[in-house]
Amino acid sequence: MLLARFPRVFLAHLPTPLERLDRLSRELGGPEIWIKRDDCTGLSTGGNKTRKLEFLMAEAQAQGADTVMTQGATQSNHARQTAAFAAKLGMACHILLEDRTGSNDPNYNSNGNVLLDHLHGATTEKYPGGEDMNAALEAAAERVRAEGRTVYTIPGGGSNPTGALGYVNCAFELVGQANDRGLVIDRIVHATGSAGTQAGLVTGLKAINAQIPLLGYGVRAPKDKQEENVFALACATADKLGCADIVSREDVVADTTYVGPGYGIPRADTIEAIRMFAELEGILLDPVYSGKGAAGLIDYCRKGIFKKGERIVFLHTGGAAGLFGYDAVFADGALSASA
Ligand SMILES: *Cc1c(COP(=O)(O)O)cnc(C)c1O
Repeated sequence: MLLARFPRVFLAHLPTPLERLDRLSRELGGPEIWIKRDDCTGLSTGGNKTRKLEFLMAEAQAQGADTVMTQGATQSNHARQTAAFAAKLGMACHILLEDRTGSNDPNYNSNGNVLLDHLHGATTEKYPGGEDMNAALEAAAERVRAEGRTVYTIPGGGSNPTGALGYVNCAFELVGQANDRGLVIDRIVHATGSAGTQAGLVTGLKAINAQIPLLGYGVRAPKDKQEENVFALACATADKLGCADIVSREDVVADTTYVGPGYGIPRADTIEAIRMFAELEGILLDPVYSGKGAAGLIDYCRKGIFKKGERIVFLHTGGAAGLFGYDAVFADGALSASA
């Protein structure tokens, strides 16, 4: 499989490191936990959207776009990475931000990723929660086109078959690293949202017959919906690569029990996971995605679902810029164990 056939802007810092988490592994007393550092992709504090944007922004350039537009939640990491990528390529960037949490916290609404969107020169526009955001994006793009601009729209999370190529690439990269050091990976886990990361990974793993099970910890949708979204996108991605039908429905597994109260709202186990990674490993997670993924990983270790001797790779998808929009949840007693 030759990804070089697809246009790509090489901008991410790759390969991202693959590291063993000794102190966390010891603390949990079960499997050997490894981390794939996609928080270190290099663009404006990093994160998983940079890999997708390498392919998406190349397509935008090929279409002669002078403006990119996308959408996400207020503290969207995807929006921030898109704004930074557009700055690098000299394109205008306009972002539609959906208020999914109803938070009035000034830091949530203007610090963290929102601060960085604006620093990169992007313009933003707010929408109420529950809006059909991909429809709103197309309508807004039509308005900007009427002003004479050439607009390339990117769906939420950069999750379409073009963006998912970034995670097909990540699957190849990770398996290559494992081969180089004789590391037999028993499972890969990560936070799953708009589905592009999991869809790209599952497609890439199947394409090279890696035989490594993949598990996504959901951050928003219920299990059936999440798995259906990932499966549909994986099929479309495999089709784009010319290997339709390599992914089967059973290859796509999500556990959505760590979502907690809802998208963008951390629970006590989310905060505990963030504190454990910070205090034991010096690694920053985030309250929307990677903190919930890590909460799932920790719980599976404690329950013995992930067993001693197994090697689990946690794909760190980034998001730490969002911490500065969520300082309130780290105040003592902000979240009780039952929250
Ligand atoms: C977007 C995002 C995810 C989820 O990736 P998807 O491809 O949308 O499923 C996970 N972690 C972080 C930090 C993200 O920004």
